[in-house]
This record gives sequence, structure tokens and C-alpha cells, in this order.
Amino acid sequence: MHTHASSLYCGRFAPSPSGPLHDGSLVAAMASYLDARARQGRWLLRIEDIDAPRVVAGADQVIMQQLQSLGMHWDGEPIWQQQRLPRYQEVFDSLRQRGLVYGCACTRQEIQAASRPPAPGSHERPYPGTCRHGIAPGRSVRAWRLRVPQGVESFMDRWAGPQHQDVAHDVGDFTLKRADGLWAYQFVVVIDDADQGVTDVVRGADLLDSTARQRVLQTILSFPLPRTLHVPLALDEHGQKLSKQNHAAALDLSRPLHTLNRAWMFLGFAALDASNIADFWTQATARWAQRFRWPGTEQSGFK
Ligand code: GLU
Repeated sequence: MHTHASSLYCGRFAPSPSGPLHDGSLVAAMASYLDARARQGRWLLRIEDIDAPRVVAGADQVIMQQLQSLGMHWDGEPIWQQQRLPRYQEVFDSLRQRGLVYGCACTRQEIQAASRPPAPGSHERPYPGTCRHGIAPGRSVRAWRLRVPQGVESFMDRWAGPQHQDVAHDVGDFTLKRADGLWAYQFVVVIDDADQGVTDVVRGADLLDSTARQRVLQTILSFPLPRTLHVPLALDEHGQKLSKQNHAAALDLSRPLHTLNRAWMFLGFAALDASNIADFWTQATARWAQRFRWPGTEQSGFK
């Protein structure tokens, strides 16, 4: 049976404040919330406002209100990435001192022209390593890249199963920071997860493809490797990812149980006949714990 392990669970929800939550982001939030509650773990909230140009003023407050009104209460104080810029710089400097970061002068067009087509399942062309040994005289740095070590990254995703990616080959040396100062999501998410003590990352399947990159960074930085569970993405009627960019409708909070049940059914469960929001979460947590036993079948092979 469960022992002290449950108190060691720490999950998080990490929305980008580029608009209110919609049905798609609720699915990811619900899965991470349930996984944490099913393990009597902590559930943290992190506002991922690192991509400043995409931040919509006030969206963080709206997201927090949406979560609260659906009964999804986070533990401790939320963090905002914009408050952590000195920390990101510190980790970046440590990588630079180790010679693991280099400046790259390539434009998008140059990378496009020099690179192989994207690996299957990926949408970006791998970086061909043009600036690995220095940039041509007279050119200036546009981005700072990580020297990605050779080798295949393998891990067991609790939803999607075994995953393998040759990051050096399929992605290449990826960007940590742009010369204009913008930090890359891949870099800061790894620092935040480590600093917050996150043991379990539960999020949408659009980020499954980022996980190997994050593991490369975690390994280089001697950070723990969180377990992952990537839930399927909710699509609109055109087969597009529901997203703020596609102007997905905000959550219907006038009928919270209906809204919760829709996300819940999307996760593959039968609708719950709940009398109120607290009852919904009690029932859903019990069902989730049954389906994702711990350690259980979906964990087999996972160390
Ligand atoms: N901020 C990302 C998003 O809203 C999620 C990042 C993550 O969960 O790692 O899609």
C-alpha cells in the first residue's frame, strides 16, 4: 500500500497568461490536479509569463479566478516567471562557464536553407550546428544555444508509453536565450520545476515532444528527472488544437459541473453525477486513483 511516497508527490499547473483558460487547458489542469490529489501530493500554480510579448494583462488573475471557481485550489503561493529572471541568468552563466552554451548568428532563413527536413512528428527543422565552432567575423549573436550531447533520450510517459528521441539529431542545439533577452520556455521550465521540487509533470500532449529536450537539460544541470503524463489534446471541430491563439471560448463558469464533466469525459471517463463541485472532485479523485494506480501497470518499466 501507499507509504510515505505520497507526501513526496509535487505536481504543478503552468498556464501561460495569454488569455483565459478554455476547454483544452482545463483538461490539462484537471489531469494534473487529480494526479496530485490522488497521491495526496502538492499542486502548485506557476504563471508562465516568460514570453512577454504574448502576455495579456490581467489574464493571470482571470485564470486564478477560473481555477478557484471550479474548486481547483493550489498549494502555497503561485510563482510568476518574470520574478525569476536573475535565477535564469545564474543558471545560464553556469552553463556558459562550463562551455555548454554558444552564440549563434543564424537567421531563420539560413537555418531553413542549411537544415534537414523536420524529423517525423516534429514541425521544426533541426539546427544544423553552423555556429558550434564560432560565428563568422562581422556577424552578431542572435541566440544562445545549448551544445546538445549525442545520444537517445528514453523515458516512460505514464499516458503515452515509452518515448525515444535523439535530441542532437532531431532537434539539434536548441536555443536557451535570444539576444534580445527573451528566455526559451524549454530552459526556464526546467529551472522552475527543479526549484519548486516538482516530481510529476502532467500536461497536454503538445509538450510530449519537448520532454526529451527538457531531460537533456535536467541531466546536464544534475536536476531530478520528473515523471511525466501527457494527456491528449482537445481539438476543435476543424481538428485544430484548442488554443488561445485560435480564440477558443473561455470556460463556461455559469455551469461549473457541466464544464468539469466535459473535461472529465474528454479524459475518457463516464460523466459523474455530482451534487456539487466538492463532490465532483471527491468522486473524480477516487476514479483517477483507480485508473492510475501507483505504482501500477502504467508505471511498469518505470524506474
Ligand atoms: N506554459 C505552457 C502552456 O501553457 C505549459 C508548460 C508546461 O506545462 O510545461 O502550454
